[in-house]
Amino acid sequence: MEMVCEIMEKDEALKNVVKVRVPGIYGKKGDPLPKRMGKLVRPAAVALQQVFKEVVKAGGHLYISDMFRSAAQQQKAHADWKSGRKTAYSPPSCNSVHEAARAIDIDAYDTGIGHQRVREILNKHGWVNIVDTLTGAECWHYEFREKKWESYKEQHGYAAMAHAMKEEIGNLAGLRQAEAEKKAVRWLQESLNKILGSRLSVDGITGEKTREAVKAFQRKYGLQVDGVAGPITEGKLREILAV
Ligand SMILES: [Zn+2]
Repeated sequence: MEMVCEIMEKDEALKNVVKVRVPGIYGKKGDPLPKRMGKLVRPAAVALQQVFKEVVKAGGHLYISDMFRSAAQQQKAHADWKSGRKTAYSPPSCNSVHEAARAIDIDAYDTGIGHQRVREILNKHGWVNIVDTLTGAECWHYEFREKKWESYKEQHGYAAMAHAMKEEIGNLAGLRQAEAEKKAVRWLQESLNKILGSRLSVDGITGEKTREAVKAFQRKYGLQVDGVAGPITEGKLREILAV
């Protein structure tokens, strides 16, 4: 496959989203990224096209490992992280810019011209990195935010931005479920704060600290220590809170 980002037809279901064909990492390296992943909002696709042109001009190449994710895929990735099946952190559905068709993951270790140079080109075209390092977790993740979303993030925070971005493209799948899960996690965080004095921020998102606090609770009350607040752990929390 040629080292280009091709803009295809409009996505039927999502607003302002186009299908794109880019070299991926699955199957034979350079084969197009699977269709279900190959989606971006139009300005992001146009900017990525420019990135590809410049990277190639500089003598490099660019392989994409992830782009659009459905709510179900995101939810599954988060569940896999919560249960420890997957080591890299994945946020719950509606908190990822991948669901808003505004994120890509690149093969940061195979660019031909170094990640630093590729990052400069991405940044120049409006693709921002979320970690400053060029190696390690999430160094491969880039987002296309534009000014509007940058200021939204300043005002309301990252999770709210991702949620609103997803709504903007009409990707409503999983929003209700996400709200319900958020509510449940807020209750969990409050309960752990009360019982263990964990001082978790009550944001409704299961992150590393929440997971560790769940483990501490399970250890203390002789439950299976897996960091996942299932029915048994939840029952125990309710039992203690009721006393
Ligand atoms: Zn990513």
